[in-house]
Amino acid sequence: MRKFAEDRLLVATHNQGKLEEIEHLLKPYSVSVCGAAELNLQEPDETETTFLGNARIKAHSASKATGLPALADDSGLSVAALNGAPGVYTADWAETETGRDFDMAMNKVHVLLKESGNLEPWLAKFCCTLVLAWPDGHDEVFEGEVQGRIVWPQRGKNGHGYDPIFLPDGYNVTFGEMDRWEKNKISHRADAFDKLVTGCFD
Ligand code: IMP
Repeated sequence: MRKFAEDRLLVATHNQGKLEEIEHLLKPYSVSVCGAAELNLQEPDETETTFLGNARIKAHSASKATGLPALADDSGLSVAALNGAPGVYTADWAETETGRDFDMAMNKVHVLLKESGNLEPWLAKFCCTLVLAWPDGHDEVFEGEVQGRIVWPQRGKNGHGYDPIFLPDGYNVTFGEMDRWEKNKISHRADAFDKLVTGCFD
């Protein structure tokens, strides 16, 4: 496994929520973190059908464009009673002509669950694949997940994306009700990050 020996890391995301989470998780390490928007990077098309495929596209294109090591995250919500949907299409379900609308996306999850006829508990998990890519084409891959269930109506205003409808196993608060510190201990991204840090930073 290749160790991270540079002092600057590009986080290949335009999603402010994710960038902030990643900055927070990397705080203990002396790495300067910058985001894709700061460097005016284009968002590549995510044309693959797996989290890994899409994370690789994002990490390698950002690294090649800047000459910096780049970390990309592809993540999403997978609902068992919806056969794993929205999965890699988690962000797409929120797309509108005027930007992302997660109220609409969460509502869609709930409507489809109702229509499916499946009774609660609606088991679900968040998955995260991290790819750390270097300009020479090498990469390292780390995967994480957190199990839980979908609840309705939405609960809480913290976090981002689908957080208000995700109740992680062993808790009685949703990700939308947890503070960032608490979520960052147990999230899918934290799980993948623990593996990244152990593999490349420690
Ligand atoms: P990506 O940017 O293509 O990886 O899209 C991931 C999608 O999953 C986005 O729509 C996110 O809002 C959603 N998502 C990923 N991680 C989380 C999370 O921790 N909480 C809520 N939604 C998430």
